Amino acid sequence: MTEKQQLLVDAVNGAKEQILAAERWLWEHPQTGYTEWQAHEYLKQRFEALGYELTLAGDIPGFITDVDTGRPGPCVVIFGELDALEQQGHPCAVDGMAHSCGHNTQGAALLGIAAALKAPGALEGLSGRIRLCAVPAEEMIQLGFREQLRQKGTIRYLGGKPEFMARGLLDGVDIAMMVHAGGGDSPEDPFDFACGKGSNGCMAKTIVYKGKAAHAGGAPHQGINAQYAATLGLSACNALRETFPDSDHIRFHPIMMGANCAVNIIPDEMKLESYVRGATQEAMSRENRKINRALAGAALAMGAQVELHDRPGYAPEIHDPALMKLTEECCIALVGADRVRFNYESWGSASSDFGDITCVMPGVQFNACGVRGAGHGVDYTVAEPERLCLNSAKAQLLLTDALLREDAATARRIIADYKPAYPSIPAYLEAIDRLFLDKEAVVYNEDGTATVDFANN
Ligand SMILES: [Zn+2]
Ligand SMILES: [Zn+2]
Repeated sequence: MTEKQQLLVDAVNGAKEQILAAERWLWEHPQTGYTEWQAHEYLKQRFEALGYELTLAGDIPGFITDVDTGRPGPCVVIFGELDALEQQGHPCAVDGMAHSCGHNTQGAALLGIAAALKAPGALEGLSGRIRLCAVPAEEMIQLGFREQLRQKGTIRYLGGKPEFMARGLLDGVDIAMMVHAGGGDSPEDPFDFACGKGSNGCMAKTIVYKGKAAHAGGAPHQGINAQYAATLGLSACNALRETFPDSDHIRFHPIMMGANCAVNIIPDEMKLESYVRGATQEAMSRENRKINRALAGAALAMGAQVELHDRPGYAPEIHDPALMKLTEECCIALVGADRVRFNYESWGSASSDFGDITCVMPGVQFNACGVRGAGHGVDYTVAEPERLCLNSAKAQLLLTDALLREDAATARRIIADYKPAYPSIPAYLEAIDRLFLDKEAVVYNEDGTATVDFANN
């Protein structure tokens, strides 16, 4: 490790108490996307106490602040996600919410980075700016609530990062990084950091089957059973699965949200939520169209109606290989090669709105180990907060230093070599705006025919 790298590591160690206190406090105050006001307030106060001036997102949680090196150069953003999951069954759940994806460790690490950057000499030899970004709503959940926020005009997008893009909070940023809590290591084969090539994107779907209520015993012939129509729709989608090309990594995982029901009434409504995940935007759109066709066909079979509501979710996440390589070198400098697992071919089937970021700038999201239990599971815990949060803060500082030192030569090279999927943030947002779909998919006409319309043109 160089003298400068050691200085940064020591600075994080110096902020250890603050980092660990934040990890616990955030764990104990979990809130879901776009309601994370407690985490927002906690971090805001501590950033301000460190002397930072914040630009607040405003009517949603989250903020940014720029650390200027005083010399011109690119801007590197470091994200810390604020949101928890809705998970009644987790033993640490508060009001039905729990940090079972470990985003509390991101807030803690971000605070540690903020503290370390104030250490004398931390910015020495660097050019450009570092944007620290506390961002809400990574988990794509509570679609009904987020749609309400959208209808009110509070948000444009369901995910926090595209929403921050739309608000201009990522304007001027050239490179992005973040660290997510990860497990995967074992006592027999311990490691501290891991990273893959990238992961699936997703789109978010709300599907509402509508039938006709009737007496379930006395006159079911007068009803149209929306629940049966929904199950038929899911059967049709399941029958499509073998037509999804393996290489596209398509995942469709609907849940029934429940009917307005009593056992003696034929249910007249059944709502479903789902994602369609996939490795490319093109594949997601293609397979989503087939899924919508199957859902509409099931409604037609039953004489029911179905509303299809598609929302852009997250773009596939693709890590910039040169940035990933530099990240690997920094992790190795920190903990040694035997504790670092970077795989330049492996693909994850989950989704993150960090994918939206990697569409417009070089980005890397890597994992720091220290959790136990299943991600999104009721047994999930941050077993080793010190190892996880301190490693996370240190690695991101070493990466920032590697990017911005020597007139930011390495950052400039990575930016120059990067080929964006979209030329700008507005171009990206314009493209995902075309994914919105709201359709009454089956309309029964006066003359006995039916009109079926299930896709954007
Ligand atoms: Zn998650
Ligand atoms: Zn997560």
